[in-house]
Amino acid sequence: MVDKNKTKKELMNELEELRLQFKDFERSIEDGTDIPDKTFRLIVESVPNGIVMTDNMGQIIFLNSQAEKMFGYARRALLGKSVEELVPEGFRHGHIKYRSSYVKEPRTRPMGEGRDLFALRSDGSQFPVEIGLNFANSDSGVVVISTIIDITERRNTEKLLNEREQRLREIMDNTTDAIIVFDDKGVVETLNREAQRLFCVNSIEKIDEIWATVTPENKENFSEKLNKVSEGKRITDYETERIGKDGKRISVSISLVYMNEGQGRFIETIRDISETLVMRNKIIELEKAQIIGKMAEGFAHHMGTPLASMLLRVQMLKDDIPDLAEYKNVGEKLNSIERQILYGQKVIQRLLRFVGRPENEKSPEIVSNLLEESMEMIRPLINKKGIVLVGDMEDNLIIFADTNLLNLVFSDTMMNAIDAMPEGGVLSIISCKDDETQFVNVKIKDTGVGISEETIPFVFEPFFTTKPAGKGTGLGLSVAKRIVHDHGGDITIESKEGRGTIVSISLPILNEEKIN
Ligand code: ADP
Ligand code: MG
Repeated sequence: MVDKNKTKKELMNELEELRLQFKDFERSIEDGTDIPDKTFRLIVESVPNGIVMTDNMGQIIFLNSQAEKMFGYARRALLGKSVEELVPEGFRHGHIKYRSSYVKEPRTRPMGEGRDLFALRSDGSQFPVEIGLNFANSDSGVVVISTIIDITERRNTEKLLNEREQRLREIMDNTTDAIIVFDDKGVVETLNREAQRLFCVNSIEKIDEIWATVTPENKENFSEKLNKVSEGKRITDYETERIGKDGKRISVSISLVYMNEGQGRFIETIRDISETLVMRNKIIELEKAQIIGKMAEGFAHHMGTPLASMLLRVQMLKDDIPDLAEYKNVGEKLNSIERQILYGQKVIQRLLRFVGRPENEKSPEIVSNLLEESMEMIRPLINKKGIVLVGDMEDNLIIFADTNLLNLVFSDTMMNAIDAMPEGGVLSIISCKDDETQFVNVKIKDTGVGISEETIPFVFEPFFTTKPAGKGTGLGLSVAKRIVHDHGGDITIESKEGRGTIVSISLPILNEEKIN
């Protein structure tokens, strides 16, 4: 420190002395000779750490001014005192033990490795420290040199950081989205509570790598996404499927960002969208139903008019040809055309009724009669394709039904069965009562090509078809499902590829009181 009262000359002298000392010091390093006392003192005073030297009995023989400041003592007050003066009460006993064993086997090392060390100030307050131990041999034995750093500041910063991390953790745990943080290799660093819930069956399980949650077919795609994100792009609302520890697949929407500070890190936010998807599908189904309605109306209009005019002409022809009975062949053919047209009109009416009026007309009907009717309708095809039609139906089971609609269900499922048996086979129509549920179970069973496991989940979807364009509409089963549900029943399908298919339709039986 510059003293303003000193004359310029005195200051110059001091500077000169310092310069000489420094020269001495330099030389001593070059020669390998001992460092002169003054130089030594200069060094000791200029280091930012506290330095305390003790003899082999633990008596303080030297301390630098940093140590004076740190502990709050004047140098004189400590010289000759035991070093335990600077150790908080609770640690003193242990310190004496450590100290004695150190002088027996001194080496350069940090003190109290792995333990938190505290030192004691003159005012009785404690502060955290880090201490390095060194030693020198002197005439009177080992001299221990302790270098002390006050780490209060560092501890405070650590505490602050810990608190901040804690707060961040709380925020993360309280968001409704799952968050996973992972490094460039995919090693998971953090996952929040929701991520734990979404991917792990219980709270003990862990995800080590993000890849464990990626489905095999999405691995390549995800890796491309990571590349893009690490180049600075943001990915939001990436819809995909993830897989939990239990192997269950989850529909999710993912956002990804990359933090480039230090070691690169990906932060992935994952939203479970299974429910959203169900809703979305419902909306799509509704939209599809609307489209079907529009199409049906258009179709009915375009087909209805020519059918009506054809019918008129056939009837005119029949009237025009006198003695029709004499032209037996012609008469039969005209009758057949007339029947076909009437059938076409009936189909159109049915369709219109189905799409236009959900509240249909129901009446008590005998199930086996409805089935017989549908079987009659498909019989011409059966004979042509070499299919054997077997019926095994319980009599007199009555349900509350819209005959036209249920006929549509039965005939469409029978048509599907016929389509599935191009090389012939057996089509069995079975119906019986389930006494327990009071439902009638109808089974339409074929020995056809069957349905693959991957296809089965889709067969009830509107417009889903595996048939060539022009042959299938993909509406049969979806419409059937709607009609059956509307009758308080259910329709399911089971199938073995190459073996055949069973469509089961259950409908509530009407008890007699209701009829009368
Ligand atoms: P479409 O008959 O117009 O294709 P459907 O809704 O009636 O539409 O049937 C959907 C799909 O379900 C069919 O394309 C077919 O792949 C499958 N399917 C339905 N019934 C059977 C069956 N009995 N045997 C094999 N596949 C069937
Ligand atoms: Mg069909």
